[in-house]
Amino acid sequence: MDTISQSGRSPQKALSLLRQIYKDLSSEGIEDAEIEAELILCYASGLSKMDIYKDNPDISENIIKTVTDMVKKRLSRVPLQYIVGEVEFMGLRIKVGPGVLIPRPETEIVVQEVIQIFKEGFLPSCPEILDIGTGSGCIGLSIARLIPSSHVIGVDISPQSIKYSNENKGLNKIKNFHTLRGNLFEPVKDKTFDLIVSNPPYVRTDEIASLQQEIALYEPRIALDGGRDGLDFYRTIIPQSIDHLLKGGFLVFEIGIGQFEDITGIAQRHGFTLFRVNEDFSSIKRVLIFRRL
Ligand code: GLN
Repeated sequence: MDTISQSGRSPQKALSLLRQIYKDLSSEGIEDAEIEAELILCYASGLSKMDIYKDNPDISENIIKTVTDMVKKRLSRVPLQYIVGEVEFMGLRIKVGPGVLIPRPETEIVVQEVIQIFKEGFLPSCPEILDIGTGSGCIGLSIARLIPSSHVIGVDISPQSIKYSNENKGLNKIKNFHTLRGNLFEPVKDKTFDLIVSNPPYVRTDEIASLQQEIALYEPRIALDGGRDGLDFYRTIIPQSIDHLLKGGFLVFEIGIGQFEDITGIAQRHGFTLFRVNEDFSSIKRVLIFRRL
């Protein structure tokens, strides 16, 4: 059967177009081709899934052209999130594009844990929070939204991150979040916080090439590469955080597979106590919370 680009651009019924997109994606080994085909058609047409399945409307040539371009990009392994330009994270709309890491579902656990610490009364009523390596701003923005009395600063060295995190702040109308550009603690030299959170790069350098092509080819290496053993940023952030955390303050990390013991060791050697560990949906220890007592 023809691929979309070969089948011309005459108007088509939604369901037959949907099947065509599915076939193009699945024949090239794209996982979740069914869901992705629906997302592509909904995004390009502005229709909901319900509209498509219930009414099976005609799809115009213009929309078919948009779909064709999207499928082409997807077949060259551009992540769907970059093509669509947006993801949902903790109920927020987060714009993403080349240069910022795509928020992962497990990173929502990091945010939920910070909220939990606040609800349990371990933080002051108007906590000062720092998000190191904020990327799209997803962690810092959702904490700011869920703790409206907090003030959150997101720091990132990358200009694209600052662009996206500011845009996402505006898009979600969040006032209590601010971004600063710079390396780790550099832009907050004289500031102290009640809680520091970070999802730093933690992939081992030699592992990056073997990740899914979508990640290895298109996501920013600067947001992934954690050095030879993946722990470079924990070794840097943990000792530096001491000067920026109030007594009783928290350090909350997302970590990679199998890094729990090493990172806990580093933190304990710097006087932190392990406060809590959380697993992700695959039972991998994913979120570590340390406290400075
Ligand atoms: N979770 C990302 C991945 O699996 C890595 C993100 C990071 O290094 N912080 O590719």
